[in-house]
Amino acid sequence: MPDSRAFTHIAFDLDHTLTFYPMSTAGVVAATFDHLGLSLNSTGTAEDLASRYDALWVALERGAQSADGLRHAVWRQLLAERGFAADGLAERVAVEYGVTRRANGVRLFDGVRQLLSDLRAAGYGLGLLTNGLSDAQWEKIHSLHMEPLFDAVVVAGDVGLFKPDPRAFVALLGRLSAAPSRTLFVGDSYEMDVVGAHAAGLAVAWICPEGTPLPGDVVPRFAFPSVLGLREVTL
Ligand SMILES: [Mg+2]
Repeated sequence: MPDSRAFTHIAFDLDHTLTFYPMSTAGVVAATFDHLGLSLNSTGTAEDLASRYDALWVALERGAQSADGLRHAVWRQLLAERGFAADGLAERVAVEYGVTRRANGVRLFDGVRQLLSDLRAAGYGLGLLTNGLSDAQWEKIHSLHMEPLFDAVVVAGDVGLFKPDPRAFVALLGRLSAAPSRTLFVGDSYEMDVVGAHAAGLAVAWICPEGTPLPGDVVPRFAFPSVLGLREVTL
């Protein structure tokens, strides 16, 4: 029996740990500009815009009330940085971006549903702790019918506590009635998941490409290239 059976609960990050977007940010940017008949020549490449879009999304997220509002604010700032200050343009791009992103959906990585089902059958309590805005994260959770897979779900935007704040992890542990020392947290972000969960007293499994150097001093208990690696140590 693996020593990790010392865990009674396993808790997961959502984005890029259990789910992925089949179309990249750059792909959605390119499709959005194409649908609107806009040229990327004067704004930068789709990859360049996508990289700035993702950074602005995280930077502005904490003050936002809704995903649609945040998307508009991000495009307003991004286009203004490129010399396009007209707000009507930012709104058109933001709306079309949202339509394109939704049309291409979000997916679970192969084997995730079975993994969660097997972990639960093995007796683990399961939790989900995801950063992000309430409406955006719940839309993903509901579209993938994920809520019944967990004993507790905490969306950071609902509780006003965002990873890596240890209190976000404590909020989830409370809903699970789980002890931190007997809970394994699984996530792909070193800064948010590994550092945050460690600070809250949980063991961590870091999902990262094989051979990724540790970016800091906190050493995760496990590292796997895919969440399916959990099977080796928990089942
Ligand atoms: Mg993630």
